[in-house]
Amino acid sequence: MQVPANFEYAKATTVEETLALLARHGDEARVVAGGHSLLPMMKLRLAQPEALIDINDVTELSRIRIEGGMLCVGALVRHAELLDSAVAGEHFPILHDAERVIADPVVRNRGTVGGSLCQADPSEDLSAAFGALKASAVIRGPEGERTVSLREFHTGPYETVVEPGELLIELRLPIRPGGSSAYEKVERRVGDWPLAAAGAALWLDGDRIADAGIGLTAVRAEHFVAPEAEEVLRGAVPSEEVFAEAGRVAAEHCDPGSDQRGPADYKRHLAGELTTRALRRAYGRLQA
Ligand SMILES: Cc1cc2nc3c(=O)[nH]c(=O)nc-3n(C[C@H](O)[C@H](O)[C@H](O)COP(=O)(O)OP(=O)(O)OC[C@H]3O[C@@H](n4cnc5c(N)ncnc54)[C@H](O)[C@@H]3O)c2cc1C
Repeated sequence: MQVPANFEYAKATTVEETLALLARHGDEARVVAGGHSLLPMMKLRLAQPEALIDINDVTELSRIRIEGGMLCVGALVRHAELLDSAVAGEHFPILHDAERVIADPVVRNRGTVGGSLCQADPSEDLSAAFGALKASAVIRGPEGERTVSLREFHTGPYETVVEPGELLIELRLPIRPGGSSAYEKVERRVGDWPLAAAGAALWLDGDRIADAGIGLTAVRAEHFVAPEAEEVLRGAVPSEEVFAEAGRVAAEHCDPGSDQRGPADYKRHLAGELTTRALRRAYGRLQA
């Protein structure tokens, strides 16, 4: 039987109350959102927080809105809500592509955007999607609020820049003209974690690529992105050759390991092929 160690429990209804509760309970307190990652870890005693601060009633973190030319996605937005959001899909179709293949409806109905990013699993899908989109993360703590590029958010497997006592508030995505995006994933069976997955975002200026974002997951790409492949794309005229070259460079710069999901060379091949496919699909959306 899997039983967590004893812990205290408190429910917050506002961000301020959450921060006060985190401060009161100290460094060994954790917030719980969907609980899909934290609770299994507690049952296995891989995590033993002394206090859980439940943020499920902090409704101010549940909003998806456009403000200041940016799409803002609250940390408590459920996977299913992001998948259902017309405004998110309109500006960033990659988010719908990714959400459609994250886990199953049970997990998507409860699991949250913030929980996924803060869990920082090396195979997490949204890290690659938001990385490709060059998102930034808003974090609030006792010292105030700070905004961090998602490309600096992850500091290692299961580690982020969110310190004890801090809370991830929302993700911000700048809406730029001439942009589209797509996500491609290979998993062993429907709803599983990826063997490898790639996200691509393109912003065109006339007939050239003004900017590009490539996100990778499950293949040990640093910060879940492939800046060397983005460099291939920037300034180029979109073509099959350019997309294939970006895929080749993305594959070269990741460092997948062999595990129960597959051998390293197969994952590296997937990283390249999925990058090329995601670019092709993002570009196709711009032509439609
Ligand atoms: C069967 C199964 C299959 C899955 N498949 C996939 C998959 O294919 N792809 C994929 O990407 N994911 C997958 N997941 C993970 C899923 O997306 C979870 O929802 C996610 O891991 C955690 O979200 P959560 O809201 O449940 O977080 P929780 O478990 O509540 O929290 C996770 C961690 O984040 C912290 N945290 C949560 N919110 C905040 C916040 N706002 N600020 C600071 N810290 C915070 C918690 O303290 C905890 O340390 C799967 C999960 C399961 C159970």
